[in-house]
Amino acid sequence: MADSLLVLNAGSSSIKFAVYRVGGSELSLKTKGQIENIGGQGRFHAGELSREIPAANHAEALAHLKGWLQEQDDLGDLLGVGHRVTHGGANFSKPVLIDDKVLTELRALNPLAPLHQPHNLSGIDAVRAANDLPSVACFDTAFHTTQPELVKRFALPERLYRQGVRRYGFHGLSYAYIAHYLARELPAVHGGKVLVAHLGNGASLCAMVNGRSLETSMGFSALDGLCMGTRCGRIDPGVLLYLMQSEGMDAQDLEDLLYRQSGLLGLSGVGSDMRQLLESPEPSADLAVNYFVHQLNREVGALAATMGGIDTLVFTGGIGENSRPVRARFAKQAKWLGITIDATANDNNASVISAPGSRVELRVIPTDEELMIAHQTLAILQDREPD
Ligand code: ADP
Repeated sequence: MADSLLVLNAGSSSIKFAVYRVGGSELSLKTKGQIENIGGQGRFHAGELSREIPAANHAEALAHLKGWLQEQDDLGDLLGVGHRVTHGGANFSKPVLIDDKVLTELRALNPLAPLHQPHNLSGIDAVRAANDLPSVACFDTAFHTTQPELVKRFALPERLYRQGVRRYGFHGLSYAYIAHYLARELPAVHGGKVLVAHLGNGASLCAMVNGRSLETSMGFSALDGLCMGTRCGRIDPGVLLYLMQSEGMDAQDLEDLLYRQSGLLGLSGVGSDMRQLLESPEPSADLAVNYFVHQLNREVGALAATMGGIDTLVFTGGIGENSRPVRARFAKQAKWLGITIDATANDNNASVISAPGSRVELRVIPTDEELMIAHQTLAILQDREPD
């Protein structure tokens, strides 16, 4: 019987998981699922199965997952667990086998990604406490470590750069998957100037040449760049000074405002979900969608300048893969780049949605971060260089 690998993506109140069968260096998906509402009445979903479970914390939720995995009779031996970890800081440019020293370093990065990192690490703690399987950390920042120093710097004093105040970039597992997919399936595209738009609840852009990250719209934190579901995106830092000085806001107030109350939610007052906004009759919902598209056009322009043009623009993430109106509105604004969308292909969610004469090819490629984590984890466990 084939062996298998478990992939975990632990968030504040949910854990997404995937199980892959391993055949040599190849992987095939066995099942995906998630545990929701950790900290309350937990719910476990896997394939057709959906049931309530006790899940007071990550450890209890993972104990349930472990029991369920043991009941599956065709998984063979579990070789290890790959974990999504948001921040690898300046030191982790590749996936890494987790030990106490690595965990200590990763915990020190908690303040840099307060919404994600502590929960990612809770998942790792729970797995390590419950069994002796090897755990591998796969980072959202690692893909961007190829960027030149000039791009990573802020115009701040040197000591702050040395201290780690620099642009890291995120969504790297999604970008690594797209690069991996292009290298395998579309090598000519992979070799060109590719702009990837990862548009989900979190959203960013990555300028890629030859499958390597040159620049991204996110920076030090997951707040910069595009407007997101509840995050503000690009903002004048003077606004933060004003809020502190004139409104008496402290760090906690600002974190709450910028991460949880802004973006599409803040602009619309209706919600953070793109589908909901597109269906809403409220003028503020339309304003939020227009703002999202305007910022997208603007950031695309910035990264097109970095690459000296764009050959291919890839849409991915929940909005990029599905939202025909957002892609159509963007294409209308991005005519200046020589972009012409094929309305029928866009409506059909085809893999190529640009018209034949378009100077930039527009593609839709569903991302698969879990598969990327599985590939990276397997490479580490097999002592190979990860993709
Ligand atoms: P996350 O960043 O949490 O992984 P996703 O990549 O799942 O998020 O993206 C979630 C976003 O995708 C939401 O704004 C949702 O409305 C949007 N989305 C998903 N499907 C559609 C669709 N069919 N049409 C428009 N938007 C969609």
